[in-house]
This record gives sequence, structure tokens and C-alpha cells, in this order.
Amino acid sequence: MTTTTTERMLNFGAGPAMLPTEVWEEARENLLSFEGSGVGIAELSHRSPEYSAVHADVEERIRRLLGLTDDWAVLFLTGGASSQAFMVPMNLGTRGDYSITGVWAKKAHAEGVILGDAHVASTSAETLFDHIPAEHSWRDDADYAHITSNNTIYGTQFHAFPETAAPLVADMSSDILSRPLDLDRFGLIYAGAQKNLGPAGVTLVIIRKSLLERTSDSLPTMLRYTTHEAKSSLYNTPPTFPIYMVGLVAKWIEAQGGLEAIAERNAAKARVLYESIDSNDLYTGHAAEGDRSLMNVAWRLADDSPQQAFLDGAKAQGMVGLKGHRSIGGIRASIYNAMPADGIARLAQYMSDFAARA
Ligand code: PMP
Repeated sequence: MTTTTTERMLNFGAGPAMLPTEVWEEARENLLSFEGSGVGIAELSHRSPEYSAVHADVEERIRRLLGLTDDWAVLFLTGGASSQAFMVPMNLGTRGDYSITGVWAKKAHAEGVILGDAHVASTSAETLFDHIPAEHSWRDDADYAHITSNNTIYGTQFHAFPETAAPLVADMSSDILSRPLDLDRFGLIYAGAQKNLGPAGVTLVIIRKSLLERTSDSLPTMLRYTTHEAKSSLYNTPPTFPIYMVGLVAKWIEAQGGLEAIAERNAAKARVLYESIDSNDLYTGHAAEGDRSLMNVAWRLADDSPQQAFLDGAKAQGMVGLKGHRSIGGIRASIYNAMPADGIARLAQYMSDFAARA
């Protein structure tokens, strides 16, 4: 047997993103033999008693963390958050209102346009999505109102959720489980797993059960929320390993003190980074101050030329994934739940050292 040491970089990538090392260590224990069964976690039948227990436990943990009552269904689906952009109108009705606060919101709206009467209730496109619009023209008779709670690319976030007559649908791919939620506001929440929940491959959907009545039997079976609700997301083979990982991440969040504690930590982490941007003339943050994301922090260097030097220097110090998305450029640090506070401190120190040398 060989022994290897795995040096882990601080990964500031937007997703798939870093997960807590403790989570991977627990997963590693179960890869070859799940809880001593002799069969690896990813090799268990989705109908086996072992996996059934995992599946039920993951749902229970998500329910507990978010405080979901029996009025809510929890679904583990495939096809990414991108597939929810069409499943929402297919199931809830095709008269949808959208707040367009970034690329993902725009893409969701585009699916709404393909399927029906999608209306732009607000947009911040004209200023490269640097803020969350204060006003929205929600229609009273829409089937749903869609927002993207956190804009992964531009680094803006809804810190308060809009009042809408129609059920509020939120793409929370990049801030799910990062803070407690007032669920009264929402009808449906969806999130691709690969940032705050686990590895890529599963999409969490939580939906108010009363909305399930809207699903028509004329939809293809796999596209109906009702199919998955009726079978507890076991109608077909679910992504068993990603779901298992979501459970470990949820357990880790509980061990950290739950969503209140995580939210406090996230706010403190983001504060350090924004202070670093604001206190150095070399850096300019992209997002309007009141709408700054606690999950994705985007900024530019005063002169674009040293950007590669910034990224190379960061890498040399063990920090990767800092290159901004191609649609905005600059630098982006994704600081999801799993990014430790000392990782932020290291980045802030690096930023001030770099600025001093520039
Ligand atoms: N919504 C948001 C907010 C995202 O950040 C992403 C992916 N980065 C998506 C949707 C698309 O997710 P997926 O790749 O799982 O379809």
C-alpha cells in the first residue's frame, strides 16, 4: 500500500465548489464499503434497505434545516438547475414573471418565453447586473414570479424577498442553506447541488404541495413534479451518490449550529473580503453596496493588466478558482458555506500584499 498526502488548495471556484474536508473524509470511509456492508455507497441498489435509509435521512435533514412542514414536498431531481427553468412553467403554468438579475435569470426567462407568456418584471441588465432592482412590475394574475436569489456571476443577492401575488419561485443554486429562510414567501425553491449542497448531479426542489395540483397528466412522466413526489424521488434511479453527499453536507451544517450560525459565519467572512476591496484603491467591487452577495464576491483590478499576475500569485499561495466569469471578467471569490474563515483571511492578506506591491 502506498501512502499519499493530499495538499488541498483553497478553492474559490463558483461550482462545482469545495465541500468541507470532513465531509469528504466521511464519504471516503464509505466508498468501498458503506457502513461495513461490503458494498460501496455508489454501488448500492437504489431499492436496497441501506440506500433507502440514506435517502429518507437526507430528506429529513433538509426538512429539519429549512424547517419544512408537511405542506412542502422535497424532491431530488436531475438535469441541473437549468432543467427547472422549463419544469417550472411546464408544471405551474406558462404565465411567468421574471426579475432578470443575471445570466441565470435571463436563461430562465428565455425558457419561459419558449413555453408561454413570460414577462420581465424587472431587470438590471443595463448596468451589467450590478444591483437588484428595487421595483418590480409583478402581475397579479401571473402563475408564478421567478427570482434568482443569488447571482453567482455578478455577485449580487436578494437580502429581502419581494412580495408577490403569484407564488414566488426562487433559483437558490448559489445560496441555498447559507441562511435561514422565511418560507411563507415562497412557492417553490430549486438549487443545483454543486455549490452549497454537494457534488454536481442532483437538483434540490422544494415545492408547496398545494402547487402540485397544477401539474397536468399530459406532461411527459419524468417532467411532472407529481411523478417524483408520489415516489419520493425514486420513480427512476436517482443520483444516489450526490444525494448521499447532500446528506453529509446537511449533517455538517447541523454540526456547525444550523443555518443561523452558518449565516453569521458567512456574513463575517464576506465582511472581511469586502473590507479588503473597499480599503485598497487597486480594487473596485462590482455589486452595489446594499446588494452585495455573501456567496460570490466579484471585483476588478484598477488596471486590467496585472490580473493574470494576481491569479498566478494567488495560485502560488494555494488559492485557485479566482478568475471572474467570462461575461464580466475581473476576479471572483466564491465563498460558500465550506470556505473556512481562515481561507478568507489568507485571501484578504494576499490582496493587501498584492496591492502594496502594485
Ligand atoms: N442558476 C444559478 C444561480 C447558477 O449559478 C447556475 C450554475 N452556475 C445555474 C442556475 C445552472 O445550474 P446547472 O448547471 O445545475 O444547470
